[in-house]
Amino acid sequence: MSNDADVLIIGGGVIGSAIAYFLCSSADFDGKVVVLEQDSSYQFASTPRSLGGIRLQYSVPENIAIAKFGLEFYASAAERLAVDGEGPVLGFREAGYLILASAFGQELLDENLAVQRDEGVDTLRLDQAALSERFPWLNVADLAVGAFGARNEGWIDPYALLQGFRRKAVSLGADYREARVVGLKRAGARIIAVELDSGDVVSCDTVVNAAGARAHQIAQMAGTDLPVRPRKRQIVRFECRTTIPDCPLVFDPTGLYFRPEGAGFICGMSPKPEDDPDCLDFEMDHDLFERDLWPMLAHRVPAFEAIKAKGGWTGHYAFNVLDQNALLGYHDAYDNLVLANGFSGHGVQQSPAVGRAISELLIYGYYRTLDLSRLGYQRVAQHQPLVERNIY
Ligand SMILES: Cc1cc2nc3c(=O)[nH]c(=O)nc-3n(C[C@H](O)[C@H](O)[C@H](O)COP(=O)(O)OP(=O)(O)OC[C@H]3O[C@@H](n4cnc5c(N)ncnc54)[C@H](O)[C@@H]3O)c2cc1C
Repeated sequence: MSNDADVLIIGGGVIGSAIAYFLCSSADFDGKVVVLEQDSSYQFASTPRSLGGIRLQYSVPENIAIAKFGLEFYASAAERLAVDGEGPVLGFREAGYLILASAFGQELLDENLAVQRDEGVDTLRLDQAALSERFPWLNVADLAVGAFGARNEGWIDPYALLQGFRRKAVSLGADYREARVVGLKRAGARIIAVELDSGDVVSCDTVVNAAGARAHQIAQMAGTDLPVRPRKRQIVRFECRTTIPDCPLVFDPTGLYFRPEGAGFICGMSPKPEDDPDCLDFEMDHDLFERDLWPMLAHRVPAFEAIKAKGGWTGHYAFNVLDQNALLGYHDAYDNLVLANGFSGHGVQQSPAVGRAISELLIYGYYRTLDLSRLGYQRVAQHQPLVERNIY
């Protein structure tokens, strides 16, 4: 008897939907794809809560290659993902990424720039004077250097990308079902079925874990663990009366980041590791802006002395505690469990390349276009992190 699904994807966020799309659009695949998504409104998923940031500035060559394919994909997404002549509007705003460093961080920034140069990425290196000239609204007094991707960096609408993948995947035959997975059934080293909260059971040939910040829960249902944990991140909106011309997405040496959004700005900050517990709630820290963010914003951009907070939101990273890099491919201990997890703060922009890569692994048994094997599970089993050093 054949299974209910040849490929069963748990989680229909941007990653699960990208995998479903690439599988269903391949001429070499004619299997049944079932996507189980517990909440089709995606209200609490990470994807719609993301900043949508797109950059080439990474330190691991695979991440740069992943980002390059992403750019190629966004440029043609309206056609590739069109259904009945209508494609998603990703709204790519090519305003750039500016990563700032004090004297302390200068060496690391230069090392990262060298990797990017080797990979053909022309990130600009701006010294203090050049920073001041290009961004006159910036306080550069305590800065040594900045890395600025003037082209091919900025942000997109993450929800439009998710819906674009999903709509196209459905039009190509993917079967999306609103259901929560509550258990996995094993027979030796194989997952043979998943159990749903309704009591139904869906049998499958291969399972893909694309459950975002809940990936470790799925792993636990299979009787294993993943070094992927839910970590809360908070974004605050604010308005400023002064115009800040040509403002890119700025990363400050303190961990603060900000970028324009609509008529105002949004900002946030990476917490210190000791203040970053596993967490799946959505509670806002209402003092964060006045206590931490505002003083840092005003220090970096004097015009931000006069700003007003205008709400915000929280969301979760699926934080890979080993090395903050994606965890991709077959789990060593199972014959048919595939991971697409641990994207930390860059899963939206990695979704096109990851969707393509995982579909290749499922169809051909190996990566055909971009070899992502260094991002595989073996580095967890062998405790060998592949650290991405340009992470915020
Ligand atoms: C504040 C913030 C800012 C970010 N900024 C950026 C950025 O600038 N650039 C970038 O590229 N990325 C960014 N990210 C990261 C990005 O949002 C994620 O890496 C990406 O959305 C991960 O996609 P996903 O499909 O794995 O997860 P999700 O979008 O969370 O999708 C996973 C899905 O799995 C479903 N699910 C979970 N458990 C089950 C179950 N048991 N049964 C059925 N379904 C289940 C969930 O309902 C969910 O819809 C940011 C994230 C946050 C929170």
